[in-house]
Amino acid sequence: MSVVTRFAPSPTGHLHVGNLRTAILNWLFARRHGGQFLLRLDDTDAARSEEAFVTAIRDDLNWLGLSPDGEARQSARLPDYERRFDTLKAAGRVYPCYETPEELDLRRKILLGRGLPPIYDRAALTLSEADRTRFEEGGRRPHWRFRLDHSAAIEWDDAIRGPQRFDPATMSDPVIRRADGSWLYLLPSVIDDIDMGITHVVRGEDHVSNTAAQVQMFAALDAPPPTFAHAALLTGSEGKLSKRLGSLGVAHFREEGLEPQALIALLARIGTSDPVEPFADPMALAATFDFARFGRAPARFDEAELAALNARIVHQLDHDAVADRLPSGMGEAAWRAVRPNLSRVVEAADWWRVIEGPVAASELSAEDRAYLLDAVRVGQDMDWATDPWHALTGALKEATGRKGKALFLPLRLALTGQPHGPDMAALLPLIGRERALARLQAAGG
Ligand code: GLU
Repeated sequence: MSVVTRFAPSPTGHLHVGNLRTAILNWLFARRHGGQFLLRLDDTDAARSEEAFVTAIRDDLNWLGLSPDGEARQSARLPDYERRFDTLKAAGRVYPCYETPEELDLRRKILLGRGLPPIYDRAALTLSEADRTRFEEGGRRPHWRFRLDHSAAIEWDDAIRGPQRFDPATMSDPVIRRADGSWLYLLPSVIDDIDMGITHVVRGEDHVSNTAAQVQMFAALDAPPPTFAHAALLTGSEGKLSKRLGSLGVAHFREEGLEPQALIALLARIGTSDPVEPFADPMALAATFDFARFGRAPARFDEAELAALNARIVHQLDHDAVADRLPSGMGEAAWRAVRPNLSRVVEAADWWRVIEGPVAASELSAEDRAYLLDAVRVGQDMDWATDPWHALTGALKEATGRKGKALFLPLRLALTGQPHGPDMAALLPLIGRERALARLQAAGG
């Protein structure tokens, strides 16, 4: 069986980090098994769905590098839903209801007031033909519910949560269609999953009770249910469900200058028994992906952890992967020299400015200034071709008896204007003889 997963956002807003995680888990699982990853746009809510969000969702997936192998839109599939709805109607598995929202609300309140669960009482099932005609003639249009089968428990073996069991008698028959004919999410999703050959439905655990109803919908439509995997929810770094998570999306991570791989590597591993590791190649990460590693406890999303992971990934990136984001002229050697000092790719430009100059003047003692003039004399005579930093410091050590910080720091300050930075052995050849001697002279004079 070839794996087919889908990511099914509603284009009613921007994807937040929880949605991105769902997309990532679906993509990783499909890639792990050489399967397909589909994008399905749940846009049956015409009033709230916007084309701009459709575009934004595609752009976000593209930025993450999770290209879907296909795309479907629910708004283009309405005739398919109608057809399946007719089948269910003929089989008595959907039924019309005429209660107003106020009536339903009142009934709920009465049940809750008596300490009972607010389950729909199925009053609409007992309506006679004459009752229905009266409602229709009075101008009421029905909404529709799916009639759950109470004869057996609903069971499935969740790839993350293990065996699940629900008693349908404790559930309300779900509303699947509104009085205006528009669809709620539950049934169209099942029809799509059947028609698109979805083998694994991977989503957040907030959908577990939907799954219970949907398992019966698959059966009612004579289709085997897919495997379900419900991931525990994300929490913020404080361990609480945070408002911030709901607003964090790709725009923020891009603005922060983070690599998509960092987000993928973090979101793939939090909430699992595997360590968070700096995978620069998401395909390598996919090869390790396994639902059996996921736990039931909430997954903690920590922006500080993301930043640290980003740095470790940047340290592995090849020049090719970043060239279009570097200042013009910054080649392979310069990238390699500065890369270990970066938290984010954008910081490479700061070191490129240091290489190109001019550099800031440093406060130096008279002694250090004299030392730098010694360095100029050594530098003028030495061979710059192979390893100028070791040639320079080796000769200076011998000539002045300086060592350690006293030997290196004045040179670093004069050459870069900074007390810390990339390995001078890598940096000095990039600064080059002329610029280096001028900087030593300026700082020493
Ligand atoms: N549109 C639904 C959501 O965003 C899809 C859930 C599903 O994956 O079935 O929650």
